[in-house]
Amino acid sequence: MNEHLFKILVIGDGEVGKSSFLHRYVNGQFNKTYKMTMGVDYSLKLLYWSDKEKVRLHLWDIAGQERFISMNRIYYKGALGCVVMFDVTNPTSFRSCRHWKQDLDNKAMLPNGDSIPCILLANKCDLAQRAVTTDSIKRFSEANGFVTWMEISVKENMNVGEAMRRLVQEIMSV
Ligand code: GDP
Repeated sequence: MNEHLFKILVIGDGEVGKSSFLHRYVNGQFNKTYKMTMGVDYSLKLLYWSDKEKVRLHLWDIAGQERFISMNRIYYKGALGCVVMFDVTNPTSFRSCRHWKQDLDNKAMLPNGDSIPCILLANKCDLAQRAVTTDSIKRFSEANGFVTWMEISVKENMNVGEAMRRLVQEIMSV
């Protein structure tokens, strides 16, 4: 069986749900009080992609460093995929995605010089006080070079696995 190891980053403003997303994806749980320690956190997830292919995901969460908006190059080094996340009830976190994507593109690229496949995730779609429209997410995603975008709810477990599958699929096809 072929085995791949993919480093994937999860970036975005604080409180948008990055740690909850990884906790849900890796451990299948949503825990309101769950909070990882400060600094970069790692999780591992093993995917049986096909009969012939096994993928080990090395997931990096920036936990607590969001205030800098700009990350150390070391954090981006070797990454093959990225999730940029915002909170649909928080327009500031949506506007920040432009900076997060620029920071990524400035500091990281694939060995062939292309930019790293990146998906835009609009989290907390379960909440009624939504403040960012689907149309603006779509336009922003297309204008800023994202592979795709998805509306998700980590709380309701909506589109979490789907989003990661979509990203892994993109990395596999590079
Ligand atoms: P991070 O700072 O980006 O890692 O965000 P956290 O994962 O710590 O989440 C911040 C807060 O948002 C926590 O109170 C989570 O319980 C909550 N949260 C995360 N995802 C969702 C979601 O899909 N819906 C709702 N309603 N709350 C969420």
